[in-house]
This record gives sequence, structure tokens and C-alpha cells, in this order.
Amino acid sequence: MPFDSLGLAPALVQAAAESGYAAPTAIQAAAIPAILQGRDLRGSAQTGSGKTAAFSLPLLQRLVAERAQGSRRVRALVLVPTRELAAQVGETMRSLAQHLPERLKIVVAFGGVSINPQMMSLRGGADIVVATPGRLLDLVDHNALKLDAVSTLVLDEADRLFDLGFAEELGRILALLPKQRQNLLFSATFPSAIQALADGMLRDPAVVDVQGEPGTEPNIVQRVIEVDAIRRTQLLRHLLKQHEGEWDRVLVFVATQHAAQTVAEKLYKNGIYAVPFHGDIAQGTRTDILSQFKQSRWDVVIATDLAARGIDIAQLPVVINYDLPRSPTDYIHRIGRTGRAGESGLAISFVSAATEAHFRLIEKRQGLSLPRERVEGFEPTEVAVPVVDASGTGGVKGKRPSKKDKLRAAAALAAARGETPEKND
Ligand code: AMP
Repeated sequence: MPFDSLGLAPALVQAAAESGYAAPTAIQAAAIPAILQGRDLRGSAQTGSGKTAAFSLPLLQRLVAERAQGSRRVRALVLVPTRELAAQVGETMRSLAQHLPERLKIVVAFGGVSINPQMMSLRGGADIVVATPGRLLDLVDHNALKLDAVSTLVLDEADRLFDLGFAEELGRILALLPKQRQNLLFSATFPSAIQALADGMLRDPAVVDVQGEPGTEPNIVQRVIEVDAIRRTQLLRHLLKQHEGEWDRVLVFVATQHAAQTVAEKLYKNGIYAVPFHGDIAQGTRTDILSQFKQSRWDVVIATDLAARGIDIAQLPVVINYDLPRSPTDYIHRIGRTGRAGESGLAISFVSAATEAHFRLIEKRQGLSLPRERVEGFEPTEVAVPVVDASGTGGVKGKRPSKKDKLRAAAALAAARGETPEKND
């Protein structure tokens, strides 16, 4: 099915073609006509499936058709959970809008950088604002924009925006919007609790779920390597050296900002171009790191889950879970950074005796059972620690722990403490 059969204006079809989109993806084919009709929508699709264009193309068309009279009032608001995603969505929208007969003003706003240029760019109004929730509210508080004319609200990575961390901000923003509006919610995953919240916002929505449809599954090979926790950095170095020239860019996920720093430093000292990426790094540097990584000026980025959402790095061949993610949902988001837009990708997870049970949960959620691999010279020696109760008098019923059991449990607890997930990303 070609793009021009979806009811899109020739200027948008031309921009899609120039972006290299030969035909609509499954989510685009299903969502674009419904959005053009003005319907609410809940869209679930694998990450990398073309969600941004699925809402941007019809949104741009509607905004041009319903030309605002007089001054520019914000008619479309796109909320995203991370700064990088805001920049990326804004860029995609601008490039899709370039041939429209009417120039639409698209303003991108996110925190971590000075608010003044964003306030300046909102002078005289805007047609579309793409923003992270916190900075959007700051701008509202500075009277830099009003949201009372928003006719379409898009929540990209909606499940994350419904998370506790954003709940209050999202509530404040929703209260500022007109009640009568079109709501478009997109996410790769809609866990059931989130789905209930989402459905509460939607009116007779078109539900588009292209998960698992032929042609929508990203082509990602998942591998699991058993290794002792303490030897993971060495194994990582070994794999990077072994696949030099073949893995031109690698994204490694760790659990903490501290781990991102230390692992990156160790690799760098060993002649590997690795850089950390996490929420404690200044926004300007974060932006630079991502664009340099996209240009292959860094070979390896060691990131927290901050980099797990929405970020599009074309031809990223490998994602490595140095630390496992907290949840099966986060796992899907992480590995979705590779194998995007029909490319193939590889996701490797390091599993130790202490994290084996957690990985089994991740597998179970996907209905998978992956073979465990070992790398010569890195065979694990640790054994799983029996669960010890809080009193420390013994976790296995009827059996008192030996001194060795206690030592192992203490080591496991220390390891777990070292992997406390970071906050404030
Ligand atoms: P997204 O899911 O929006 O992050 O998009 C993932 C990638 O797919 C981006 O690099 C887009 O440029 C690309 N893409 C979006 N739509 C299409 C299409 N119809 N054909 C080919 N690539 C596309």
C-alpha cells in the first residue's frame, strides 16, 4: 500500500519519500486514517516501528487544514519522557513538514538547558510544542505559552508518562488542556495498570495493536552469556575486541550512574572509545554524546535506562545488558534500540548466579527460553545463593545456614546494594 492511498497531502507524501519511507509501516497504515478522521487512538507497536511518523503525518495535515486565525496558538502538544526523545521527535516533525504550503512552527522544549531560548522561540506563539513535562510546566509558569487551544494531545512512550515519576506533572498538564480534544497514546508496551489509566483518558478510541504482526517484529537475536558478576567488564572487553570491525557501535546498559562511569573509564583506559551516558551528565554533553555516537565517533556508550526509551540510532548492531533491567518491560525497550526499522540486531545479556532467576522472569514474559552460553576463559564459578530470611537464621526451611552460606548471602546482598537503580532520570 503506498503512502498516497492513506489520504495524506502530496507535500507530506513527498516528505515521507524523501525521508526514505517507501511504504507505510503497519502502525502507520492503521493509525494515519483514524487520526485524520479526528479519532482518539491507543497505538501499541514495537519500538522502531515508525510511531513518530504515524502520529506526525496526520497531525501536520490536520493543522494545515485547520489554519489558525490570527496569532499562533498551540494546537498540538506532544509529550515525551526524555529530552533526547523530544529533540528527535521535533526533528522528524520538521523534516516531514518541510514541503507544506503553510509553515508550521514547531517548538521543542526540554529541561537541563537554559529556558530563555525556549521562551524566545515561543514568542509569537507556536503551532506544535514537543516537550518533556517538567519544562513544559516551567514555561507555563513563566507565561511563555498557554495550552487552552490544544486540540490534539500526543503521549509518546505513554506508559512511561503514566509512571509515578511523571504522574503529578501529567495531572497538572491535563488540567490545563481543553476537555474537548483528540488524544493519541503511543507506546511499545501498555501494561494492564497503565492501560486502565490510558483508557480513562480516551473517548471511543481506535485501538491499533500491531505487536507481533508479520513484518512488525524487529529482527533481534537474543543471546545470554553466563558470567560471574565480578568478571563482566573483562568479558565485555573481550567481546568488544573479538568483534572489532564487526560491531561498529555498541550500546551497553548498566544499572547505575556509578557503573556507567566506572565501566566506561575502564574500557577507555584499555583503548576502547567508550563514554558514559546518564542523567547526571549535563544536557549539552548528553546531546553531543548521542550525536557523536550516531556519527560513529564513539564506539561504545555505557548507559543507564535513560537511553532505553525511544532513542533512534540507525544501524546500531548490538545492545548489551551488563546489568539486567528492573523489569521485562524495560528489557523490551532496551533491546529495541537495535533491530530498528527492519534492520537486524543482536541483544546480549550477562547473567550471573545471582541474576539468573530474574532473567527467567524476563524470558517468561516473552514466552522464550534462551540457551545459556559460556565464553572460554570466563566460565562462571559462582553458585546461586539460597534466599536468606531477614533474621539471618536460615532461608532454606529446616536447614541452618553454614558459615559459607552466610558469607555468600552477605556477598550477594552487597552486590545487590551496588546495583541499586538510579533515580531522577
Ligand atoms: P520510530 O518508531 O518513530 O522511532 O521510527 C523508527 C525508524 O523508522 C526511524 O528511523 C524512521 O526514520 C524509520 N521509519 C519510519 N517510518 C518508516 C517507513 N514508512 N519506512 C521506512 N522507515 C521508516
